[in-house]
Amino acid sequence: MKKYKVQIAPDECKGCQRCVIACTRNVLAMGKELNIMGFPSATVQNDNCIGCGICFYTCPEPGAITILREVSDDVQE
Ligand code: SF4
Ligand code: SF4
Repeated sequence: MKKYKVQIAPDECKGCQRCVIACTRNVLAMGKELNIMGFPSATVQNDNCIGCGICFYTCPEPGAITILREVSDDVQE
């Protein structure tokens, strides 16, 4: 089974919350700390990401969201 992981670059995020609202798996939440621009940034709160990409496509900030597919030696694809 493919596993996915989402990463947020805090200083690229402008705190619009679009990704938090869009994610159907409740993976993302708004953090409390402010980034270098003075915005609260999105954070990852669990490992339920299924790699759908909705957060990536709704985010207006290039580079703020990266979705990774984990590769395991014991998994045949
Ligand atoms: S890729 Fe999909 S499941 Fe993963 S965090 Fe983004 S919206 Fe949620
Ligand atoms: S959609 Fe992008 S800019 Fe908006 S909160 Fe999420 S990561 Fe930050």
